Amino acid sequence: MGPVRGMVCVALFAAVACAQDPAGAWPQHSRKRPLPPVVQPPPQMLPVAPPQGAVVLFDGHDLSGWREAKGSPARWRLVEGGAMEIVAGTGDICTRGGFGDVELHVEWATPNPPRGSDQDRGNSGVFLMQTYEVQVLDSYQNVTYADGQAAAIYGQFPPTVNASRAPGEWQSYDIVFHRPRFDAGGRLVTPARATVRHNGVLVQDDVKLLGPTTHMVRTPYSAHPDRLPISLQDHGHPVRYRNIWLRDLEK
Ligand code: MG
Repeated sequence: MGPVRGMVCVALFAAVACAQDPAGAWPQHSRKRPLPPVVQPPPQMLPVAPPQGAVVLFDGHDLSGWREAKGSPARWRLVEGGAMEIVAGTGDICTRGGFGDVELHVEWATPNPPRGSDQDRGNSGVFLMQTYEVQVLDSYQNVTYADGQAAAIYGQFPPTVNASRAPGEWQSYDIVFHRPRFDAGGRLVTPARATVRHNGVLVQDDVKLLGPTTHMVRTPYSAHPDRLPISLQDHGHPVRYRNIWLRDLEK
């Protein structure tokens, strides 16, 4: 096969593979997987005020809506500007209430000046139902594997574009999440689905999750309650969060 024909075949294979099964076509965390193109996000007015009827999870005043995994009060620290900052080593924090289908708004900023590189730079994460992670990472001029960069469904789906802002700048996620459905026997009926806007740019378009998001392994679904907390990941980096609210789509 000549080089041109070979290249066409590779391109066709990649296109077909991506169209059919964008996650399964690539080994998890493959560094050969193409990185999403970088786009300049549009100017955004942040913070975005919660709409009427929204559940405010964090408004900058206190961490009363959050706890550690085992139930004790959250130990992340309040900082200026109505934000909270991860205190490395204290662990993930999660909401006191449980949620299923939601529209979730989260604002976050990675440390400035940045430290480290790859996954070791501004890493955190927003976990729906403590199980399904939308990755938080400093992906501004910082290369990592495609399915692990900011706004990836971790280990499964890279964002379609990299709409990251610079370290220290406030960024936003607007996530529409539909929980998986299980039948009475605990078998999966419909997978979880997620749509994500990063800084106002659509980067995940109703993707069907392959299961819980985990590192170095693809974990199959297993039945869980219809409502579980939302959690934020302590990955050892002082990432900041502010203005977190949701609309409960099952109320
Ligand atoms: Mg993470």
